[in-house]
Amino acid sequence: MYDVTIIGAGIIGTFIARELARYTLRIALLEKDNDVANGTTKANSAIIHAGYDAKSGTLKAKFNALGNPMFDKVCEELDVPFKRIGSLVLAFSEDQMETLGELYEQGRQNKIPDLRILNRDEVKAIEPNISEYVVGALHAPTAGIVGPWELAMALAENAVDNNVDLMLNNEVIKIEKQEDSYVIFTNEQQIKTKYVINCAGVYADNLHNMVAKPSFEIIPRRGQYFVLDKSEGNITNSILFQCPTKLGKGVLVLPTVHENILIGPDAEDIENKENTETTEERLCYVMEASRKTLSNVPFNSVITSFAGLRAKPSTEDFIIEESNQSKGFINVAGIESPGLSAAPAIAEYVVNMLRDMDGSFKLNEEFNPIRRKMTVFMALNEEEKKEIIKKDPRYGRVICRCENITEGEIVDSINRNAGARTFDGVKRRVRPGMGRCQGGFCGPRVMEILARELGEDIVDIVKDSKKSYIATGLTKNNV
Ligand SMILES: Cc1cc2nc3c(=O)[nH]c(=O)nc-3n(C[C@H](O)[C@H](O)[C@H](O)COP(=O)(O)OP(=O)(O)OC[C@H]3O[C@@H](n4cnc5c(N)ncnc54)[C@H](O)[C@@H]3O)c2cc1C
Repeated sequence: MYDVTIIGAGIIGTFIARELARYTLRIALLEKDNDVANGTTKANSAIIHAGYDAKSGTLKAKFNALGNPMFDKVCEELDVPFKRIGSLVLAFSEDQMETLGELYEQGRQNKIPDLRILNRDEVKAIEPNISEYVVGALHAPTAGIVGPWELAMALAENAVDNNVDLMLNNEVIKIEKQEDSYVIFTNEQQIKTKYVINCAGVYADNLHNMVAKPSFEIIPRRGQYFVLDKSEGNITNSILFQCPTKLGKGVLVLPTVHENILIGPDAEDIENKENTETTEERLCYVMEASRKTLSNVPFNSVITSFAGLRAKPSTEDFIIEESNQSKGFINVAGIESPGLSAAPAIAEYVVNMLRDMDGSFKLNEEFNPIRRKMTVFMALNEEEKKEIIKKDPRYGRVICRCENITEGEIVDSINRNAGARTFDGVKRRVRPGMGRCQGGFCGPRVMEILARELGEDIVDIVKDSKKSYIATGLTKNNV
């Protein structure tokens, strides 16, 4: 029997899994998809918010403020890219300067350090490319950017390194409550467990309703983005928000940790929890809105677009509590923005809550918080490059020429714990296919390497989700 079973391997489930691994428990992490971070965690703005935005007194405000300062340590331990680049909320009128004053005051109540209101000249000194419409800004130097899926994958790997059982392709379809435990039915197996932690993102209400009467609803709210090529990476060095209005938070322009530029999102309530399509109408809106922030957004350098689904809770705040109808079943639901920023603090809180409820948790003296470092070949000096190629010649073969990724790095991403199993899994871990050609050239080579390392037929290699086959067969019969 498992002590704890976590449902959903997004940023919340993986953070909780790693945090629980600090104790000598049997832990299962169940995920319906074929990789970690395949839900909302792979499609968001990647911002570690400073924490002035959430209404004081809410769980969002509390866990954002606590979570933000935790990122330096965890990203260092897990070798994940994180940069504290600061954010600016731009005002376009004197009325909006008043809104900035309110945000500043809310930030003060949320105990966010070093906030400042800047005039146009001060903003321009930080970001010379801002548009002529900008009259001032709220500066939050503690805001940062992270690799969100890289973080979740690293957390999962470190959790597995510390004996958590990660079970991909396990969709929970039914949960039965027994006297002091639960039986979880997946499409693959049955699992007995003492505690269940529901981290199922947009599906968290469905999971909750398997053990209790409906008490909240999760509405998928879609947001669409453009990604610009790295050649435009210097159009801004900070996260540029627009002043929030009644119509929403406005469109963002910001750099990513890999020096691309991200522009978006919009906000649209939809019904289908799987609908991450982008649409012409919404992307045109994002394009138009961003021109208020920067005068010359180089849209001729767009390399891709994508959409993510916010898990909007009917309660308006994060739902982090034991179900009052089903003892031992813990909901971590409605984790919309700033869920990524709040994730480490949420994980710590949930694990402490469980530890206090149970009373018998013992610390795992062997817990190792450090993940083996990733080799980024192009970041090595000449001596180091020669050395690593001597040990493993696969580091001497460049497979992705846009991002300069070697075969050695790709093989390592597949062979780690919680390693890549799909084309996009490799792409998200070590970046072949993230550049201008979007995998057009390196794609077939990555598929060959995946097939070889996994001992599978190349036609069985999928792009991303379960049935997203890329090849249907050979064009010629090799004899
Ligand atoms: C457009 C957008 C922008 C955002 N920007 C930011 C930002 O800049 N900063 C920030 O802090 N936050 C941001 N967020 C919010 C942040 O992305 C989320 O809070 C966070 O990713 C939620 O993580 P999660 O683990 O709860 O959900 P998910 O990542 O969706 O993970 C849930 C997992 O559960 C799995 N699952 C579901 N049902 C089952 C089942 N039956 N059985 C097994 N597994 C199941 C899913 O496959 C999925 O992998 C943004 C969100 C969106 C959509």
